[in-house]
Amino acid sequence: MLDKKNFYINGQWVEPNSKEEIKVINPATEENCAVISLGNKSDVDLAVTAAKQAFEIWAFSSKKERLELIEKLYANYKKRWSDIAEAITIEMGAPKDFASKLQAGTGASHIKSFIKYLKDFEFEKPLGEHAPDQRLLYEPKGVCTLITPWNWPMNQVCLKVIPALASGCTMILKPSELAPLSSMILAEIIDEVKFPKGVFNLVNGDGEVTGNALTSHPDVNMISFTGSTRAGALISQNAAKDFKRVSLELGGKGANIIFKDADPEAIERGALRCFRNSGQSCNAPTRMLVEKSIYAEAVERLEKYTKNFEVGDPNKEGDHIGPVISETQYNKIQTLIKKGIDEGAKLVAGGPGKPEGLEKGYFVKPTVFADVNNQMDVARTEIFGPVLSVIPFETEEEAIKIANDTPYGLTNYIQTQDPEKVKRVARKLRSGMVDVNGAGIAVDAPFGGFKHSGIGREAGEHGLEEFLEVKSVGGWN
Ligand code: NAD
Repeated sequence: MLDKKNFYINGQWVEPNSKEEIKVINPATEENCAVISLGNKSDVDLAVTAAKQAFEIWAFSSKKERLELIEKLYANYKKRWSDIAEAITIEMGAPKDFASKLQAGTGASHIKSFIKYLKDFEFEKPLGEHAPDQRLLYEPKGVCTLITPWNWPMNQVCLKVIPALASGCTMILKPSELAPLSSMILAEIIDEVKFPKGVFNLVNGDGEVTGNALTSHPDVNMISFTGSTRAGALISQNAAKDFKRVSLELGGKGANIIFKDADPEAIERGALRCFRNSGQSCNAPTRMLVEKSIYAEAVERLEKYTKNFEVGDPNKEGDHIGPVISETQYNKIQTLIKKGIDEGAKLVAGGPGKPEGLEKGYFVKPTVFADVNNQMDVARTEIFGPVLSVIPFETEEEAIKIANDTPYGLTNYIQTQDPEKVKRVARKLRSGMVDVNGAGIAVDAPFGGFKHSGIGREAGEHGLEEFLEVKSVGGWN
């Protein structure tokens, strides 16, 4: 079992004050793979003090200096790529190919993309030709608390740490206590690159004590959080007391609208996008809305596809899915699957229990419910497991109404060959992102949600601006 009890504070690995520990469990084997410490208020105080002191200098560092360090970080990330992928497989069960290409891969893509945006970003610019003495100065927001979940660990950490570094902020990262190992490798990389001490700090811990201390600390100026809507609301309350800036990336219950003229791959592609990463993605299309005239055929195809969908050992090569993160999450998914059956949804594939031959580990059967009504729990709750709800519709207006009838608003999907219909429907969907015909959302496109899916945008230029305050100066000659 790995000993990962130290924190990274003020440019060095230090022994925590807290004696509280937690074991990191490999969800594929249910075995302990590492032990970490759960930071207390005094650990948080040390990290915030280091970040506050470092901000005095880092805030005024040059773009060139920050760029050089982030470029070195990117080079070292590529060298440690396989270590990062392996850590992700161990801590959250992503199969090795997926962990390397997508999990570690998206982290790398974000670093590369932020390097490009940092190069191009003008931190001082004129308001416009009409007002030559007016300048806009983009300045770092200050000391940032960065809190991330377990489902896309390096993706989410890089979406926060890199733009925070690029903008001149200092930070305390608290990765998920369930999947902290890949983040600790990133901390090692940052240490090797030699960012000034105190710019980046890592404190492990839970939400209740460590997260709460980090989001209520008076010297923290900004909180960037990804995770549950429940925690997002608690964090916002902490932030409100002294007007900390808040960026929240929360849950989703995406609709995938399949019109009768959808391309032939749309049904299976939709199921794959729902099941991928064992259904643990906030932007997963978990409600498939299918036009009545192709509904029966779609359900038949989903049954066949899902029954053949492979779940298996994450250490094996291939495009199968692995387990879900924890016993708690496994039990939550099982309860919701049973609820779907009790509510009267038609179980087409999968269902309760573990897939055959996978009794050890938190493996879930990919599951499809048909004849779902949008008021059922399986259509309203973010299940965060490989569970798809299929809902029939008759008209375009009805499809839009069902898609928007959710507290969430992260990503919706449209499948049709009619470009005019695409534009009409995309404009009416109340979500931060709309993915058409499997095109995907670019790595540097603004990522974030409407409604309960959050506040703010990550990635690309928008993601960099999240960490900046704008100052207007008049009389700049
Ligand atoms: P969570 O929100 O409880 O945990 C995510 C992170 O927030 C962790 O680092 C955790 O320690 C921290 N945290 C928790 N409570 C906190 C608090 N009060 N103050 C500060 N930090 C806090 O999420 P979870 O329990 O790991 O998962 C539960 C549900 O959240 C999932 O079923 C899913 O619906 C949702 N979720 C969404 C995303 C996403 O990407 N949008 C990611 C993970 C989980």
